[in-house]
Amino acid sequence: MGNRFQVQDRFKDGAQYIDGELRPGTSGRNHAIVDPATGEQVLAYDLAGSDDVDAAVAAARAAFPGWAGATPGERSDALHRFASVLAEQAEDFAQAESLQCGKPIKLSREFDVPGTVDNTAFFAGAARHLQGQSAGEYSGDHTSYVRREPIGVVGSIAPWNYPLQMAAWKVLPAIAAGNTIVLKPAEITPLTSLMFARAATEAGIPDGVLNVVAGTGREAGEHLVGHPDVAMTSFTGSTPVGKRVAEVATATVKRLHLELGGKAPFVVFDDADLDAAVHGAVAGALINSGQDCTAATRAYVQRPLYDAFVSAVADLMATVRLGDPFDPSTDLGPLVSHTQRDRVAGFVDRARSYATVVTGGKAPGGDLAKGAYYLPTLISGAAQDSEVVQSEIFGPVLVVLPFDSDDEGIALANDTPYGLAASAWSRDVYRTGRATREIKAGCVWVNDHIPIISEMPHGGYKASGFGKDMSAYSFEEYTQVKHVMHDNTAVVRKDWHRTIFGDR
Ligand code: NAD
Repeated sequence: MGNRFQVQDRFKDGAQYIDGELRPGTSGRNHAIVDPATGEQVLAYDLAGSDDVDAAVAAARAAFPGWAGATPGERSDALHRFASVLAEQAEDFAQAESLQCGKPIKLSREFDVPGTVDNTAFFAGAARHLQGQSAGEYSGDHTSYVRREPIGVVGSIAPWNYPLQMAAWKVLPAIAAGNTIVLKPAEITPLTSLMFARAATEAGIPDGVLNVVAGTGREAGEHLVGHPDVAMTSFTGSTPVGKRVAEVATATVKRLHLELGGKAPFVVFDDADLDAAVHGAVAGALINSGQDCTAATRAYVQRPLYDAFVSAVADLMATVRLGDPFDPSTDLGPLVSHTQRDRVAGFVDRARSYATVVTGGKAPGGDLAKGAYYLPTLISGAAQDSEVVQSEIFGPVLVVLPFDSDDEGIALANDTPYGLAASAWSRDVYRTGRATREIKAGCVWVNDHIPIISEMPHGGYKASGFGKDMSAYSFEEYTQVKHVMHDNTAVVRKDWHRTIFGDR
């Protein structure tokens, strides 16, 4: 494998970012970040314990009045500067992200990093556009208006699949709206979240507005969620952990935002452009090695196209180049860890007893044998209620099933606990129109699968959670609305007092 990005010097002061500086964690426990492409250690750091979470929350609490009291224009200026700093450091971010996640460098350079810069620029603008109902005399005797206020200290928890983008999605709307934040990234991938926080300081965002605690979910995560000085929990991760987070947050009556797992259907009607659907399915299933909550995971193909779809997808999957994430020609890197690779392999191995592995279904050998690689995998013949159709695998695995009527295709698409994303493929606007109305998911693409944009919301239905990341809709999560009502009459005995003081 080629030269790797060096991170030791950058984190020699520690891997916790609290009150504008890097510090070591004080849990007494250490974590080794491993390059999943080689299995070699990248950095060992001291994990955050509850004292570090307390210090981060205290810093965020102290920073809150000043940041909340800044004008929208001042917060917007700071976020514009933040976007510029991130853009200047784009290559460092791309390399660090590829190192800790095993992402192909072209994905980090063309998707993760520019997406984050764009998101930052979007929220720099959006900070000046918090919307509300117009003031008016709704009662006749009063003027009513709405104040949209920040909530306070937000505690956010993020997963490992897109560490930089998840940090951005959590942090930007929260701070654009005047909150301060403590972010806990996944302990296996904290590097770009820490770099993101440091870039915020370089951009002039005040100390304490953005803090990062790198620790385990059980220790740092639960302490953050249950912290009495944290007003809101925003969590992105798996549905089982999200349920636990909800329990802990509810016990302290916190506002809650949950972005959870997905099992996106990919519905191909019999008039679809087959070639486009095949390319869309392979790209949509393999992006980020399938470790994408919106990845295409269940392809439902109407019977006349089914056989051709299966063989074309298998052929196209075989052309995807696995390799060193730092080689610009690599299409597919390893999974994030050997543990995740083994978990994915377990799903496929169990499926052999009830389904057919059409292609893939194993780790590659040769030069890649040491890394957490897994071949692009297509599974057919699984029943709708089987594990590979119902459960989130989170790897480069696509399951394909046939359907007959449009009714059946849409019903099967809706038949899992999840509802994050879906796509419908057809040349008939009435068919795709019906699919977009009837599929229960937070996003439905038509004749594409995966693209996201800063201006549009991202979030789930059903067991995929509730609340929105990105777009102006995310301000609904990170602000609270206060109704202010002024009496305009100056009358002592007001009309409504008759309910207390006798007849009219
Ligand atoms: P995970 O649920 O295992 O962990 C997510 C985060 O929660 C990590 O930071 C982890 O340390 C923390 N955590 C674990 N236990 C905790 C606890 N008891 N209390 C508090 N925090 C705890 O998820 P993962 O494996 O890191 O990421 C993959 C999952 O994330 C998939 O299910 C994927 O679908 C989901 N995801 C969803 C979205 C979305 O927008 N809906 C986006 C990306 C990823």
